[in-house]
Amino acid sequence: MRRPWRLSVWWLVGGVVVALAGAAAIARQSLEQQRALFETDARIVHRLLSQQVVQHDAILATLALLQPDSAGPSGTPPEQRLPALYPQILAVQRRDADQAWPDAALTDAEAASRTARRAALAVPDLQSGRYRMVLAATPTSYALTIDLRTMVPWPEWPMQRESSPVRVSLVHAGSEHVIQAGDLSPGTRPGWRFEFHKVVAAESQPFDVVAVRHLGWGHLPWSRMLAWVLAVALVLAALRHLQRQRSERRRAEELLRLGQVGRLNTLGELAAGMAHELNQPLTAVLANTQAAQRLLADDPPDMDTARSAMTQAVEQARRAADVVGRLRRAVERPDATQQSQAMDLVEAVRRALYLLEPESQRRGVSPQLEGPPRLLVQADPVALDQIVHNLILNALQAMEPVDASKRHLLLTMTVQGGQAQLAVADSGPGIALDVLPRLFEPFFSTREGGLGLGLSLCESLAQGMGGSITAANGTTGGAVFQLRLPLKEDRA
Ligand code: ADP
Repeated sequence: MRRPWRLSVWWLVGGVVVALAGAAAIARQSLEQQRALFETDARIVHRLLSQQVVQHDAILATLALLQPDSAGPSGTPPEQRLPALYPQILAVQRRDADQAWPDAALTDAEAASRTARRAALAVPDLQSGRYRMVLAATPTSYALTIDLRTMVPWPEWPMQRESSPVRVSLVHAGSEHVIQAGDLSPGTRPGWRFEFHKVVAAESQPFDVVAVRHLGWGHLPWSRMLAWVLAVALVLAALRHLQRQRSERRRAEELLRLGQVGRLNTLGELAAGMAHELNQPLTAVLANTQAAQRLLADDPPDMDTARSAMTQAVEQARRAADVVGRLRRAVERPDATQQSQAMDLVEAVRRALYLLEPESQRRGVSPQLEGPPRLLVQADPVALDQIVHNLILNALQAMEPVDASKRHLLLTMTVQGGQAQLAVADSGPGIALDVLPRLFEPFFSTREGGLGLGLSLCESLAQGMGGSITAANGTTGGAVFQLRLPLKEDRA
């Protein structure tokens, strides 16, 4: 029977789906968190760098405004004091009205600055780690040389410069200055890549702040994911256990019900035996009382013999009363007699197999079902259950002497000669030829401790429903019991 196997697979598939979906959700949430952290850090970096470069515009504007004649009290022109105040400013150059810039790059930058009316970059090769910017003014123009390395405000930096996995760089016109190296090694394997691009907020120095973070599979929260999978497995195992317990209880209740019905039916058979048992004491009572009557009618009456005949009659009457009492006690729980109705034979067989599952498993037998998915018969539900249960249990018991690997139980359902037929074929030792004619006799049993009432009961139940049971030996060994029942009367 494949039902429990299929059920286990469903439990397994369900468990795997829930575990995987949960683990994926945990991984996703962790990635989202890391992305949010990355973006916050990148925005802070962009703001800090923007604040720095904006200063350069302000410095140049101030210099242009003051012009060279505004030397301070110390006599040093202001531009000479700047590198001391701003460590990122390596040098300040000026071009007075009658002078020229020392190189063409500065001349070009000044021209660009004059057109744009703001500071302009000269030789923006960021790889060298420095750049120059010029602000055209009259009469004196100024140029600053800025060191990118010292420009970064490390004390306010949101990340650990040495250990952070985020790479931060400034990009301009195809050249790049790396501010923080980060760790891009996971990028060589499949994984996730976070990227941030934003140009600093100063038109004169349009550097693109680029932050990149690579995450590999190793960055996923494996311990949390594993804990989730374990939790799912535990919950499913507990649920499965509960479900098993419930079905075991149902099975036990059902067996109890079958057992009670079986007991009742068996008692029906026993009643016949008891009638036989009653016959003897009642005959003895009759004989003894008749004898006493005769002895008392004698003249003089033979009181002693009559008394002993009456004593014997009383004893026999008590025996009979005992038999009746036993019978009454045994049939104390009569069941409502079920009426014949349309029943699915396949379903009845499945039900019996389910109930006998522990018996089959214990003997290492996997029953096989063959036939249509439904076969409606006209039967008494309780009687049908009882017959099928008995036939299957007998087959399982009969296979006990056979090697476990050679135990096969085949249940075939067919329609033959206008009747539904269930064949229960086992691979046991079969039925000895001298036993065969006596199988359905009440109290006939070859099993140790067997009552010998099962088959005779099955036969009377089957006949009561207009059907029959026969037994034979299979062509390849083992016994085959055939149950025939009328098909459902008004079947479509
Ligand atoms: P019990 O099982 O109490 O002996 P049954 O009426 O069910 O009573 O069976 C009567 C006898 O029929 C069994 O003792 C056994 O000898 C024989 N029998 C029943 N089923 C099989 C079977 N599948 N294979 C061989 N013998 C069987």
